[in-house]
Amino acid sequence: EKAKHGNVGSRILVFVRLRPLSKKEKDAGSRSCVRIVNQKEVYLTEFANENDYLRLKRLRGRHFTFDASFPDTSSQLDVYSTSTSELVEAVLQGRNGSVFCYGATGAGKTFTMLGTVQNPGVMVLAIKDLFSKVRRRSCDGNHVVHLSYLEVYNETVRDLLSPGRPLVLREDKQGIIAAGLTQYRAYSTDEVMVLLQQGNRNRTTEPTRANETSSRSHAILQVMVEYRVKDESNNVINRVGKLSLIDLAGSERAIATDQRTLRSLEGANINRSLLALSSCINALVEGKKHVPYRNSKLTQLLKDSLGGACNTVMIANISPSNLSFSETQNTLHWADRAKEI
Ligand code: ADP
Ligand code: MG
Repeated sequence: EKAKHGNVGSRILVFVRLRPLSKKEKDAGSRSCVRIVNQKEVYLTEFANENDYLRLKRLRGRHFTFDASFPDTSSQLDVYSTSTSELVEAVLQGRNGSVFCYGATGAGKTFTMLGTVQNPGVMVLAIKDLFSKVRRRSCDGNHVVHLSYLEVYNETVRDLLSPGRPLVLREDKQGIIAAGLTQYRAYSTDEVMVLLQQGNRNRTTEPTRANETSSRSHAILQVMVEYRVKDESNNVINRVGKLSLIDLAGSERAIATDQRTLRSLEGANINRSLLALSSCINALVEGKKHVPYRNSKLTQLLKDSLGGACNTVMIANISPSNLSFSETQNTLHWADRAKEI
């Protein structure tokens, strides 16, 4: 199947993470319409018509199967170990990979990716794991780790570690780079959480809700691991592995699982980068030779980390509340489609 698609070695793992019902949702009288059946399976209660889910008049349900499904009791470490730790291993061998959190606003993307100081998420746990693996592997300081943290908002790229003017994307021998982007040399995990929290505060906010990150902002953490190895003829060569960790913009209103919906959404100027990501994933699913990376800033930045010999992890975040039923349904359908790559 994969060989037929011509992208041998490429794979995408798709996970679903259910968050607990929030106090706000409980207070609004909402109930759960999602159940994690077992380690892989999610059950979504479906409803006969538009308004039935508000009254929880259930009709039938649907099962979805993923590489793993995380119940609301899963820890950050559970999620990290199952979804991303293998990718970190691959990056240490000079490969590229990416991890996306996908889902509606409020579904738990930032919690999963960044987390809190007490409860750090995938970004921090990945870096921690990377450092401990590096330490175990070499005591000669052979590995050099650099971080960059950037935002794509309204097709503008900004440096979250050093906020200022928008960055210009350029194509050079190594691929597409954001000119002037901070490459932060990281020596230990301790400094990283603070750095990322600060960076996250630099994300664009909506003028009306000054403390809330805009639901249209994508945050990308790129971790570059550089090291030297000797080839067969004993020449020292440099190897670089790159891990991209992406807290995507809210997926509400921007879900396209087929070309027709995609075209009708494109007219609506919703979120070019999110739509372009769907298109690229669709193209990879269908085994197309042409993958439209050039259509957005996000997909340009991720060109070398998506498809081909790269590993991709998709974590679909969902709320259990029946009030979020349509968003959850859309997210699950999208995730179901993505796993076909
Ligand atoms: P998003 O980034 O998708 O908009 P957030 O990550 O900000 O959503 O999550 C919304 C709220 O739910 C936050 O207050 C967050 O702390 C909480 N939350 C999300 N996921 C979990 C979880 N797995 N466990 C506990 N609280 C969570
Ligand atoms: Mg968020």
